[in-house]
Amino acid sequence: MRITDVEPILLRGDSTYRASTDASESTDNGDWQLLVRVATDEGFEGWADVETLAPAAVAVIAGTGMSTLGFRTLSELLIGEDPRDVERLWDQLYIGSAYYGRRGLAMQAISAIDNCLWSIRAQAAAMNLAQMLGGRRRDRVLAYASTLFRPTPQAMADAARGYLDQGFRAVKFGWGVFGEDPGRDRELVAAAREALGPDNHLLVDPGWYPAGWTRPGPTRSRREAIELCQWLADYDVGWVEDFIHPERFDEYATVRAQSPVPVAAGEQLATIWEFERFIETGCVDVIQPDLSRCGGLTVARRIADMCTRANIDCVPHSWLTHLLTGYSLQFIATLERARFVEFNVSQSALTGGIAPAGFSLDDDGMIAIPGGPGAGVDVDRDFIEAHRVRT
Ligand SMILES: [Mg+2]
Repeated sequence: MRITDVEPILLRGDSTYRASTDASESTDNGDWQLLVRVATDEGFEGWADVETLAPAAVAVIAGTGMSTLGFRTLSELLIGEDPRDVERLWDQLYIGSAYYGRRGLAMQAISAIDNCLWSIRAQAAAMNLAQMLGGRRRDRVLAYASTLFRPTPQAMADAARGYLDQGFRAVKFGWGVFGEDPGRDRELVAAAREALGPDNHLLVDPGWYPAGWTRPGPTRSRREAIELCQWLADYDVGWVEDFIHPERFDEYATVRAQSPVPVAAGEQLATIWEFERFIETGCVDVIQPDLSRCGGLTVARRIADMCTRANIDCVPHSWLTHLLTGYSLQFIATLERARFVEFNVSQSALTGGIAPAGFSLDDDGMIAIPGGPGAGVDVDRDFIEAHRVRT
């Protein structure tokens, strides 16, 4: 089998990221979204979404590369290759783009391609992706509704009750107004905890820089970070997430050692080398690789092994289209321990329309992990054509 096409598909939407000003739902990225489609001569196709600067990533995948190795585009490095040689191809993509890549946009594009290749490999073997990755240990997992902070205690309580009514047993509130006013932060968390009651999970993602989307402010001091963890413990928060500058591994380890609540992070990290350092230096209780940023499933599989060694939990970060939800579910199916799947309840018209998977919650607030061949989530080709920008 040979790869015949690695196609970046750029989609345009008409909404923008927005934290709600009342109890209503917030909106994730709604203006641009990049998809990648990998095609083969045997008719198998892989699809994946990418969280990146979408218009620029198109050139990295399928623009004009240079002849020097290290400055090639990703599609040049793949056409004609056997898509089942996934891990060899990951190395080839890394080295072939290393002089401009290694992290950021290039690694995010590699992540999407890697997920496509794993999907193709599973389809070609007529296997479920989780089986291809090492085997299914479970058929369902607890979902947490993942959304943004609302600006008042009343709106927080109304929103939290709304998620319970939808069947969720766990909710994460992040970013929004959090960090602008410490007194109000506490009232918002208190209102959410009261509305959720003692038996449902409350997770908090304070953001690693203060609010103000166009102009981020300074990051927290060590003392502020520790104090934040201490008062969050009063509300039985399941974890505090991604609240320290992502380059400050030392700071994570120090704050975690003093935090009464579990510390979760990892969505900003990429490659096995970065995750190795982060996990081995004791930075977190819960590692959160994002499969559309970390280097894809090839890297995530290695992270799962690191988690076993360090005896910490792995809950993939997953706040994009349901293509990513699907890949995350397949990965979660293989983990030794699986606490949650992140479920994006804030999808825009654009991210929501790409892969309108019919996930539903059972009576325990759990989502079934698709069992068919491949990743088990289909794209809406008509929607994609209708929103596609020709590049
Ligand atoms: Mg986060």
